[in-house]
Amino acid sequence: MNQSRNVKIVATLGPSSSDRATIRTLVETGVDVFRLNMSHGTQDDQRDRYELIREIEHELGQPIGVLADLQGPKIRCGVFAADAAHELEVGQSFRFDLDETPGDATRVRLPHPEILGALTEGSTILVNDGKIRMTVTAAHGDAVDAEVVVGGPISDRKGVNLPDVVLPVAALSDKDRSDLEFACGLGADWIALSFVQRAADIEEAKDLIKGRALVMTKVEKPAAVKDFASILAASDGIMVARGDLGVEMDLADLPSIQKSLIRKCRDVGKPVVVATQMLESMISSPVPTRAEISDVAGAIYEGADAVMLSAESAAGDYPVEAVATMANVAMKVEADRTYRERMDDTRTSAKASVATAITAAAREVAEAVEVSAICCFTHSGTTARLAARERPNAPIIALTPIQGTARALTMYWGLHCVISEEVTRFKLAVVSAARAAKALGIAEEGDRIAVTAGVPFGRPGTTNILRVAPVDEQAIYEGESTY
Ligand code: PGA
Ligand code: MN
Repeated sequence: MNQSRNVKIVATLGPSSSDRATIRTLVETGVDVFRLNMSHGTQDDQRDRYELIREIEHELGQPIGVLADLQGPKIRCGVFAADAAHELEVGQSFRFDLDETPGDATRVRLPHPEILGALTEGSTILVNDGKIRMTVTAAHGDAVDAEVVVGGPISDRKGVNLPDVVLPVAALSDKDRSDLEFACGLGADWIALSFVQRAADIEEAKDLIKGRALVMTKVEKPAAVKDFASILAASDGIMVARGDLGVEMDLADLPSIQKSLIRKCRDVGKPVVVATQMLESMISSPVPTRAEISDVAGAIYEGADAVMLSAESAAGDYPVEAVATMANVAMKVEADRTYRERMDDTRTSAKASVATAITAAAREVAEAVEVSAICCFTHSGTTARLAARERPNAPIIALTPIQGTARALTMYWGLHCVISEEVTRFKLAVVSAARAAKALGIAEEGDRIAVTAGVPFGRPGTTNILRVAPVDEQAIYEGESTY
């Protein structure tokens, strides 16, 4: 299905996509990783989705990644009566207060007393990814009245940004700690952290995650862009969270920031996801705009590991069409000669180690002679990560006996993740790689594959062998008798 696609598709699940049939269709259409957005719905809702994902994973025999995205110290408004959306008009007055009564066209709850207390006359309030802009006209301590300067739709739990109020907020709220424990307990493969400002925020989360999941940092604060080197060093992956980033910074800064973050992530072999408004118009239209297609293509040309759908798949009318659109754009971009040239031109050499030398050699072999796949045996995922970093011109098959590794690796550029049995001899490794390549439809009898593995087996971090082997099982056995 996604054999010819390298870039991964992350899709957020929500009310539009929580039934078994839709989730399954989304996978069949191209989703590699599902995002559970802890900002919306209850833990029970997320558990139901998680269990369906795992059932479908089992049915399809294909590892699926799960990214649990913590809300972070994101400020959101409360809910509205009957789930309604209201269109705020320029010049109208709107109130934020602590009243738990569902909101209407004139007011809504803002469940943060410290923020209501910090706002003063003249403060800017942005709502819904900055679509709505208001200016505070009167501050009452436990409520504020604001005048709408730029109108737009407001609905349940929309994000609120306060660009000119500095608030000392903890990196993880009580809700985040509860959601983190819940998500790790479920078995999420990745935890995304919102509104990270400094590397210490990531360390704090890692102390709680205790190795149960990888950590993806959402870059959505100017401070995280400024301090990106230390943020990247502390993270397992990065999300370019353009929604809040574009509210907190000049929108015109986003393209260059995106390009720079993608480049830096690839250099160190950590996956980078480009997120937010990629196909925004498809929330209500079966066809995207030209600009959106170009945006998705741009992220792929830049070498992103994954592109992400938010409301398009979670709450839109066309979740499957949105995934199909991304998959189609990816196919076209990756077939373009200039894409391949760019992947080659932007490659840098990795920090010297035996494993990096072996994976670089595998990529060079794939350039020099025809091999149908580069097959990497991995325990921790490191070797497969290095292979993805090379952005080779042949499909990469990541084979691992560890289910959690296979699931986590679904986030990386180009990796076809396969759970294999624990192999004890190199010959068996080659046989099982050949079988996997055939089962995936990537190779057939008569082809050749490049296989990397570490001997002795079963010891992580030992990749030290590269072999070019026939896919023919008989030939593998006849070709060697010594190991
Ligand atoms: P969010 O993060 O959807 O949780 O706000 C993504 C973004 O800000 O772009
Ligand atoms: Mn955000």
